[in-house]
Amino acid sequence: MFLQITTTHRPATDLGYLLHKNPGRAHEVEFGFGKAHLFYPEAGDARCTATLVLDIDPVALVRGKGTGDGLLSQYVNDRPYAASSFLAVAMGRTIREAIQGRSRERQAVADAAIPLEVVVAPLPARGGEDIVRRLFAPFGYDLKIEPILLDPHRPDWGHSQYVTLTLCATCRLADILTHLVVIIPALDGAKHYYIADDEVEKLLTRGKGWLETHPERELIVTRYLRGRRSLIKDALARLASAEETEEAAEVAVDGSRMDAAEEIIERPLRLHDVRLDTVAETLKSLGAARVLDLGCGEGKLIGRLVKDKQFIEIVGVEVSSVSLARALARLEKLPEKQRERVKLLQGALIYRDARLRGFDAAALVEVIEHIEPDRLYHLERSVFSDAAPRAVLVTTPNADYNALFPTLAAGKFRHEDHRFEWSRAEFAAWAERVASAYGYQFRIEPLGEVDAQHGAPSQMGVFTR
Ligand code: SAH
Repeated sequence: MFLQITTTHRPATDLGYLLHKNPGRAHEVEFGFGKAHLFYPEAGDARCTATLVLDIDPVALVRGKGTGDGLLSQYVNDRPYAASSFLAVAMGRTIREAIQGRSRERQAVADAAIPLEVVVAPLPARGGEDIVRRLFAPFGYDLKIEPILLDPHRPDWGHSQYVTLTLCATCRLADILTHLVVIIPALDGAKHYYIADDEVEKLLTRGKGWLETHPERELIVTRYLRGRRSLIKDALARLASAEETEEAAEVAVDGSRMDAAEEIIERPLRLHDVRLDTVAETLKSLGAARVLDLGCGEGKLIGRLVKDKQFIEIVGVEVSSVSLARALARLEKLPEKQRERVKLLQGALIYRDARLRGFDAAALVEVIEHIEPDRLYHLERSVFSDAAPRAVLVTTPNADYNALFPTLAAGKFRHEDHRFEWSRAEFAAWAERVASAYGYQFRIEPLGEVDAQHGAPSQMGVFTR
C-alpha cells in the first residue's frame, strides 16, 4: 500500500523540508508491525514526489495475540496490502511534523496553500465508492476514485472493495494529511486495530476545525472509533454545538440511547419506518381484526394500527416496564375512540400466557434477536403453539446486509442488546423449522431496499395457518 504526495510548488524540493525527509535519500522507519519506506521517485525544481510505502509483516501482527478471530483470518486478511489504519499510524510516526504543519526550515511553505496531488492505494471502501466520495468531497478536493479489479486476469469477477484515491488541491499540506489520517482509519472497517481510550483525544485534535462541521461527522467518528459506543458518545458530545448538545440530552433522558445508536446506524434508510409500515400493511391485508404486538416496545406499531378501524382490538405485550410506561404515555395522547381499542400487558414471551390466546394475528417486530438463542424455543412454543394466532409476522435484521452499513464496525451487531443477527439463510432455516413444527405455512419478504449481493437490510417472515 502506498501514499504518494506530489507538489509543483517551486522549488518543488521544498517538499523535503515539509516532510522532514531529505529528497536525496531513501528513509526507513521500523514499527512493531512492519516497516515504512519513504523515498522520492522524482525530485526536481518543478515537480517533486514523495512516496510512503508500508511493508506490513503479517506474522508480527499476530505475535502475542490469542486465536480469538480464528487462525485463518489472522493470517489471511488484507492487512499487508490495504491502506488501512496501519498506514495512518505509519504516517503519524514518519511524517508527524508535516501532519502538524511544522517545518524547521520552511515554515512559510508549510503555512501556505501549495499545489498538491495525493494518491492513496489501495484504499478499502467498505460501504462502497460512494462513501469515499461523501467523506472527501466536502473538503472541496478534486477527487478521482478508481475502482480496483478483484483480479486483473479475471475482469468478469468485477471490482474489489478497494479503490485508488487521488486528491488534488491547492492547500496546506498539513490539511490534506490531517484529513487522511482521520478518514483512512474510518474507511477501514477491520477489527484488528486496538482502540485505546486516548483515541478520542487524538481524533478531536486531528479533527479540530473541520470535523465539527463535516456533514458526515457521525459516520467518521463512529467508524474511526470502531463502534466503541462509550468513546463515540464522548467524541460526538464534544464535537456537538450547544444546540445539538441539548437535543442529545433529550434523547438520553428519554432512556432510549441504545435505540438511538441503532437508529443512527440504520438511519439513512429510515428502516424502522419501512418495517413498521410493512408489518401494518401486511396485517391489514391478512384481514386481521384482533392483533397482538408482542415485544411492543414504546408502541410504535400500535400507533400505526390504531389509526385503522379494521383493527378492533390491539394488545401490546412488553417485558420492560420502562418501555411499557412510554407506550402508555403515547397511548394517553390518543383520542378516546382510538385508545379504547388498545390494551397493554406486561409479560415475558418465553412463558405461556392465556391472555394471548384467540387472536387473528401477532407481530414480533425486531424482538426475537433480543432473546438468548437457547431460550428462543420457549418463545416459539408460547407464540406458535399456545397463543397460536392464525398469522404471525416476525421481523429481524439481515446480517448479510451489515457489511453495507457505513457506521457499523465489522462483526458488530446493530444494537447492544442483540443476542444474534441472522443471515437470510439462517432466518429461512429457522422459519422452515418453526412452520413445520407448529403447522404453519410461511414466506419471507425483504424489508428495505434490496442489494443484489447482500439482500435487504431487514427481513420479515409471514407465517399463516
Ligand atoms: N417492537 C418494537 C420494539 C422492538 S425492540 C418496535 O419495533 O419498535 C425489542 C423489544 O422486545 C424491547 O422493547 C424488549 O423489551 C422486548 N422484549 C425482549 N425480550 C422480551 C420478552 N422475553 N418478552 C417480551 N418482550 C421482550
